[in-house]
Amino acid sequence: MARKATDCRDAPSVSGCSLYMSGEEDELERAAVQHVIAVHEHTDSPELRAEIRASMKEPLPGT
Ligand SMILES: [Zn+2]
Repeated sequence: MARKATDCRDAPSVSGCSLYMSGEEDELERAAVQHVIAVHEHTDSPELRAEIRASMKEPLPGT
């Protein structure tokens, strides 16, 4: 399974967070959900997970 990536710098509402993560979609969703709950004060919900899935992109070369 190909890896995907999320980058907090892609989200204009998120200021000051530059976290970049990559991994297989399921791993990445779990890690990203925990990150946005812990750091960005989001609440876990199907909408949040859908948003995270939608923000996944192709990883940068070498990551
Ligand atoms: Zn972040």
